Amino acid sequence: MEIINSAREMTLYSEAARMRGARIGFVPTMGFLHEGHLSLMREARRRADVVIASVFVNPTQFGPNEDLAKYPRNFERDCAMMETVAVDAVYAPDAAEMYPPGAQTWVEVTELTRGLCGRSRPGHFRGVTTVVAKLFNITKPHLAFFGEKDFQQLRAIERMVADLNFDVEIVPMPIVREADGLAMSSRNAYLDPHERKQALALSRALMVAREKYLWDARTPADLAAAARAVLEQNEAVKIEYVEAVDAETLEAAVSLERPILLAIAARVGNTRLIDNIVLRASAVSRERLRA
Ligand code: AMP
Repeated sequence: MEIINSAREMTLYSEAARMRGARIGFVPTMGFLHEGHLSLMREARRRADVVIASVFVNPTQFGPNEDLAKYPRNFERDCAMMETVAVDAVYAPDAAEMYPPGAQTWVEVTELTRGLCGRSRPGHFRGVTTVVAKLFNITKPHLAFFGEKDFQQLRAIERMVADLNFDVEIVPMPIVREADGLAMSSRNAYLDPHERKQALALSRALMVAREKYLWDARTPADLAAAARAVLEQNEAVKIEYVEAVDAETLEAAVSLERPILLAIAARVGNTRLIDNIVLRASAVSRERLRA
């Protein structure tokens, strides 16, 4: 596995692969890898000839009072994990390489990033889309893999790729969970054992809302209310938002007949966690389940 730090070298590597006719699969990450990241890399391995992963804790997507300085890092362990899924090259630039002095260009997806996490993290998605645009230009992938864990991020990147004619296929990947349901996240490392138990409220809330959806929800608001009720039973869980939105537009959902994203952001202690579920059974299958 090659470890590459400079943008120039990374691009030369990718151009050489393209010249050979190889298909490049790319998985961008902020490191401190877990099974969720590895699932993306395995799929890249399956679908591409050359697999490139990046490890970069992107400063521009963190707000001034967020956890940039203490974001967990362990590059050696990350490399060992990436070896096990046969990643070919790791792009690991430093911040000065990505943002040289004088940089002043941003990529911003407007509407899709207004609500949900965009509301509480101003500038976050602008940082994400800018760094992903740069990473695409540097690594020149044919395919790029993103987890549905960060659903709004996935939608924003799909929009950016369509709007700016990036020649890359975005492959969405399902959320990987711990055995007890907690969505895997590098930030789970912040949780102490008590908080780790409380954090289960997020996935439990989604499961309760899913039951509601299948059996007796009348409106999207019923789903959000069901999830909220579960979260509110845990005094250590501070809700940031619980929303049922249209899974395409991320606007407030108006009907149960269209795919709905039920998304949660909450703090457990000082740790901000997100989780979501897409509910997309057709009206017919909902009727059948009820029968
Ligand atoms: P991050 O390192 O948190 O920026 O995540 C890098 C990529 O891994 C993003 O596309 C995430 O959506 C994805 N990812 C993170 N956690 C999970 C998970 N539990 N299941 C699936 N994908 C994930």
